[in-house]
Amino acid sequence: MTRRHVMKLHPWNDVVAAAGDLINKGLHVYQQFNCEKCGAKQTMDVPDKLYISGICEECGHETDIVKNGCNYMVHAVTRRAVEAVLKTMGEKKP
Ligand SMILES: [Zn+2]
Repeated sequence: MTRRHVMKLHPWNDVVAAAGDLINKGLHVYQQFNCEKCGAKQTMDVPDKLYISGICEECGHETDIVKNGCNYMVHAVTRRAVEAVLKTMGEKKP
């Protein structure tokens, strides 16, 4: 299986709302996006900060994250934080 995994992207406003909620619960959120030019998955170095655009480390192209959507990676360090994440995931509705 060599098929390239393409990260699912969420609308900017949804990510800002979800990430803000997680940050308020004491978790660390790292924004991620897919380069719109080469498709490389990029993860921001700074936690709890959401950027409107990002430079690809692979090709140097600047991607409009607000337009393209993004995702995030959660770092949960305490048990309470982990429970908060699981609860948030369980609340997800179509
Ligand atoms: Zn790129």
